[in-house]
Amino acid sequence: MINRPLSYVTFSVAAPVISVIVLALLAGLYRGIDAALGLIGVGFIAAAIIHGRNLRVLVAWARQPIGTPAPQGEGLWGSVFEEIGNRFQRECEVKERLSAELGRFQQAALAMPDGVIYLGEDEVIEWMNPMAEQHFDLDRRKDLRTPLPNLIRQPEFIAYLASCEYAEPLVMRSLRRRDRTLQVQVIAFAGSRRMVLSRDISQLERLENMRRDFVANVSHELRTPLTVVGGFLETLIDGMDDFSREDIVHFLTLASEQSNRMQRLIEELLTLSALETGAPAQIDEEVDAVALVEEVMRETELLSAGRHTLQCVLEGGGALRGSSKELHSAFSNLASNAVRYTPAGGHIEIGWRVSDEGGEYWVKDDGIGIDPAHIPRLTERFYRVDRGRSRETGGTGLGLAIVKHIVTRHQGELRVDSELGKGSRFAMRFPPARVRPD
Ligand code: ADP
Repeated sequence: MINRPLSYVTFSVAAPVISVIVLALLAGLYRGIDAALGLIGVGFIAAAIIHGRNLRVLVAWARQPIGTPAPQGEGLWGSVFEEIGNRFQRECEVKERLSAELGRFQQAALAMPDGVIYLGEDEVIEWMNPMAEQHFDLDRRKDLRTPLPNLIRQPEFIAYLASCEYAEPLVMRSLRRRDRTLQVQVIAFAGSRRMVLSRDISQLERLENMRRDFVANVSHELRTPLTVVGGFLETLIDGMDDFSREDIVHFLTLASEQSNRMQRLIEELLTLSALETGAPAQIDEEVDAVALVEEVMRETELLSAGRHTLQCVLEGGGALRGSSKELHSAFSNLASNAVRYTPAGGHIEIGWRVSDEGGEYWVKDDGIGIDPAHIPRLTERFYRVDRGRSRETGGTGLGLAIVKHIVTRHQGELRVDSELGKGSRFAMRFPPARVRPD
């Protein structure tokens, strides 16, 4: 790209004019006025022909698409074409740069996890990304150029858009999918233009609900035994002299049971919280599976106190790679559930098996069993099939949630097979990588 100085342009115009004038003066001096006028006339005609030809070239070039290279011009016209060509080229470069930047921006907006809709005049949709299509059930192929309030007709959204008060986002439910909650924020820019940003907060909302339920459940679980203990104490204070020693011992025993229950609940809550949020415990110890099962068996015998027939089945030994403390807690949780949900006279089997598929610890009973409808929810915190029965037997509703966490931390799975009135089989399965056979 050559930028010639303006003096060059002046010189290019002045040189032929001065030459013609000098030649005409010389012709006038030596050949008379007619020769001078003739020379000037020839000069004008030659100039008209040259300029006419170049003007035609200029017009033809102007009709070509932008970016067509500058044509060759004669004399000064060469510089003119060159100057115009250079200017076009610079503008083309700026445009290309701008459209590449716009393209990148659009790609980023397309890939955004949030929905984006640009609104032009009269709230007409000018552009939207796929996430906005999903959030509001829109279709880019047919909904562009349509006013947004014609498509999202929820009154709260229409009122929010019309309010021009966008400091706070709007939380709304998706019309088509009632389980989807959206947080919508409008941003006004460039006069009457607006950008609608949407975010799916269903998961956040679910977590918030779980947190609220959890707090309510814990408060409820603690309030019941606290009320009982408080009641006993008040009764004793009011009528200490009216009760016999046996009555007092009876009250205090009941109060102590409730206090144990609260203690168990708090311990299980702490265990659960450590499993969920605490630093991961050492889960690479070599745990002797048979020794662990036998230990759980002894504890179960104590718990059952002769009310059940107990059987221990061992099919292979080996070591289980994991946390001995956590595995002990999960194994004994399943065993104590079997004792608590199997009426006296029932049969409980505790077993360990090693195969090519890994290791399996199971507890089988012929107790009350569980309706299949409840099985998917058993590992939820505080979920019980029969709240009263769980309480009577000292349950907290947290045992299976803890077992589930532990088995997942050991890359295993919990399987529950049960039939109402017939009995249950709870099994923890560990992958081969966690089991070292003898
Ligand atoms: P809980 O402290 O109430 O026993 P868990 O989380 O250990 O809490 O168990 C959740 C629920 O699963 C229990 O309330 C009970 O209804 C059911 N359940 C667990 N194990 C058994 C079993 N072996 N037989 C029948 N029902 C069981």
